[in-house]
This record gives sequence, structure tokens and C-alpha cells, in this order.
Amino acid sequence: MAMIRKLTKIPGPKSVDLIARKDSAVPRGAHQVAPIVIRSAHGALANDVDGNTLIDFAGGIGVLNVGHSNPSVVSAVQEQLERFTHVCFAVASYPEYIDVAERLARLTPGDFPKKTLFVNTGAEAVENAVKIARHATKRPAILCFEDAFHGRTLTALALTSKVQPYKAGMGPFDTSIVRVPYGYCYRCSYKLSYPSCNVSCVDQIETYFSRYIEPQSIAAVIVEPVLGEGGFVVPPREYLPRLGALCRKYGILTIADEVQTGIGRTGKMFACEHSDFVPDLLLTSKSLAGGLPLAAVIGRAEIMDSPIPGGLGGTFSGNPLALAAAQAVLDVIERDGLLERAERIGERIEARAKQWAARYPFVGDVRRLGAMVGVELVRDRETREPARSETSEIISDALAHGLIILPAGTYGNIVRFLPPLVISDQALDEGLDVLGASFETMYAARVAEYAANSVTVG
Ligand code: PMP
Repeated sequence: MAMIRKLTKIPGPKSVDLIARKDSAVPRGAHQVAPIVIRSAHGALANDVDGNTLIDFAGGIGVLNVGHSNPSVVSAVQEQLERFTHVCFAVASYPEYIDVAERLARLTPGDFPKKTLFVNTGAEAVENAVKIARHATKRPAILCFEDAFHGRTLTALALTSKVQPYKAGMGPFDTSIVRVPYGYCYRCSYKLSYPSCNVSCVDQIETYFSRYIEPQSIAAVIVEPVLGEGGFVVPPREYLPRLGALCRKYGILTIADEVQTGIGRTGKMFACEHSDFVPDLLLTSKSLAGGLPLAAVIGRAEIMDSPIPGGLGGTFSGNPLALAAAQAVLDVIERDGLLERAERIGERIEARAKQWAARYPFVGDVRRLGAMVGVELVRDRETREPARSETSEIISDALAHGLIILPAGTYGNIVRFLPPLVISDQALDEGLDVLGASFETMYAARVAEYAANSVTVG
């Protein structure tokens, strides 16, 4: 079968020139994983300025579940572009906002009246959820998790766990934030094993209520149903419902941050649906508008209505082009059966990852929910020392061979898979072949080192 990728040199000369200009025009903080420059992209393929065609397993960091330039999204946006691009929702409303608000209220878990607020980014959704939760409960504190990521604006950043490169030097941060360990079984903070632990990490949160903070001062807990940037960590199925019950006991609201897990990535529209966890507020963004900036806070009507008229909003919040795109995205997911497809994609990646785990001693853990698959790499299976530099070597090698893929995790040692859900089996397999070859190259270079660790492979 003909190869899908088209490769010259990566990075090619035009990319190198443009990146040199970028380096003098753009601050280094706005950094890229892949040192290439994109000219166009369709489906699961991206074309760079040098004429290379690459397979994209990053999907704009989970933004392109319906694929790059999805034709339905493009025509919905074009149609909207002809009618109007902006009136500002603080000036006058428009049907696009109301339609998608109602649709998301129907699609999110919870059989109770809901309301939806639109903003532009995941971080903005987080900021607004915190404002709404504080306003509704009249409590100041927010409970969050180790290895969480909630964005780069200041409160979202305060809730984020990773210090380098995100937090270092950026403070001071909101001080009414309490952080507890997540249900990260591979690196359990309590050194317990599932299922014999009986998910006691949730019960342990109550010890924080005795030793650090009175629960009556906590407005809300914010939780990712699967850790995204933190390493695609899938907690045990009981974890979220148990957390929900604990919060109800103390009148603490639950905010599910589904910015990365939502819009079909895990094989359900929202990851909370896997465990019957019904949050009070749910945040979604990334794939919601197929590449246009849009985010939503969807929640219990009485909580969402707590801030007074004018207390919420923003100039570009609920942009009509992005809302038109969102309608098209939700149509495509239903029409093309992408929830079912996410599970098939996840199975296919997992099958290959299990082969890698059998061959390579540096594969420490393979985990997934739907098409959200993480492969955690370690220097030693006993100590579980994170294999950070090895992970970045694999990712660079894969790029040089035409695959865009990202790392994740506090220690950057997790390979994460976020291919568009419209990817063909052929492109998926070809991408997995590229990555498999990069694993092999890394292994060949370090085989003696791993043999010295004399860990049983299997
Ligand atoms: N929450 C989660 C779970 C995320 O994964 C992200 C982005 N990676 C954000 C919030 C922040 O979203 P944005 O970059 O759009 O502000």
C-alpha cells in the first residue's frame, strides 16, 4: 500500500528560515514541540511549507476530534461569515448562542435544568467556573489535584500543578487553593495498589479537612476526569462518584474540567459519563468548535444564575463563527459515529502499545479511556524513574519521520495520543509504525543500559 506521508527533509529549509524569523519576532515562551511550519492541513494530515505531509497524532492538542478543516465546519463558518461575524453578546443576543447553549445542556450529564455560558478558551472557562462557584456558595477556597492542568491565566495557573515551565516565576498565586493527590494509580501517593486500596485516596481528602482547611470554606473541587497534560491518567471507575459523594457531604460544588476529555475523545461525549459522575459545572473547549476558539461552562441553572446581570461575559465570548462551527462539530460527531470510532481507535493504539510493553523495558504503563491513550516511559520498571529525555528523543525521531506527536506528564515522560477521530485505519497504522520504529531506535541506542537494570520484560 502506498505510503500516506510525503517526506523530504524535516525540518526542511523553508521551515528553518521561517523559524529563524519567528525566533526574533516571537518570545521564546511561546514555544513549539515540532520545529516545522504548517501551510495547510486536512483530516489527520498536515502539510508543511517544505512540501512534507505529516500524520498528526497531536490534533492541535485535542482540538481536532473532527479533523483539520472538516468540510462541514468550513461550510458552516463560511455561511456564518456571510451573515455576521460579531455583535458582542453583551450588546445583543443571536440564535447561534442560544441554540448551542441548549444543545450542550442536553448533551451534558445531569437530569436537571442547566444553563450555558460561552467564553473563548479553556482557561477562561476555568476562571468563570471559579467565579460562579464562589459567588453561588459565598465560599473562597478551591480544591484541586496534583498533576492537574487548568490553563495559563493566573487563577487557572494557580490551579495547575506543573511548576516548570508553567508556574515558576509567574506568582504570586491565589492562596485559597488546596491541592490533594489524584487517583494516579501508577504513582500512588499513598503507595497502595488498586483495587485493594479501596480507592482510599478519596477518603484521604477528609484528613486534609482536619489538618489543613475547613471544608465549609471550600466553594468547589475542580477535577479532570482523566488527567490531560498531567499524563493521560485514568483514575479507577469509582473515583469520580466517590469524590462527588464526598463533596455533597460538605456542600462543595463539583467542577469537571472536560476541556481535553470532552467532545467525544474518550468514546462518550463527556468522560464523566463513563462513571455516572454528574458534576454541578462542566467545562468544555478544545474540540468543541473544530479549531475555532470557543469554550463553555455548563451547569445547574440555579448556580449559573448566581452572578447578577453583567457579572459574566467578555467582548468576544460566544463568537458567532465559533458557535456555527460548534453546531457543525456536534452534527459531525453524531452523523459519523465518532464516539464509537474513538473506542476503535483507542483499541488499535492500545494493542500496539501492549506489543511495545512486551518488548521494551522502558514502557512502564499503558492506559486509556476511549481514544485518550497514554504510554508512560520509565528508566527502570522497579523504581519507575521517569524517562524524560528518552521520551523527547522518541518524539523528535518520530517527527523527523513524519509523525507529529506530543509528550505529557509532570516529568514529560508520557507519550500521548490525540489523533483526529476521523483518521483512517491506514493513517493510524502508519503513524503507529513510525512511532514503533522510534521506540526501537531509542531501545537499540540504550539496550546495554536497560540490560544492566536486568528487569524482566513482559
Ligand atoms: N483545562 C484542561 C484540562 C486543559 O487540557 C487545558 C489545555 N491544555 C486547559 C484547561 C486550558 O485551555 P486553554 O489552553 O484553551 O486555555
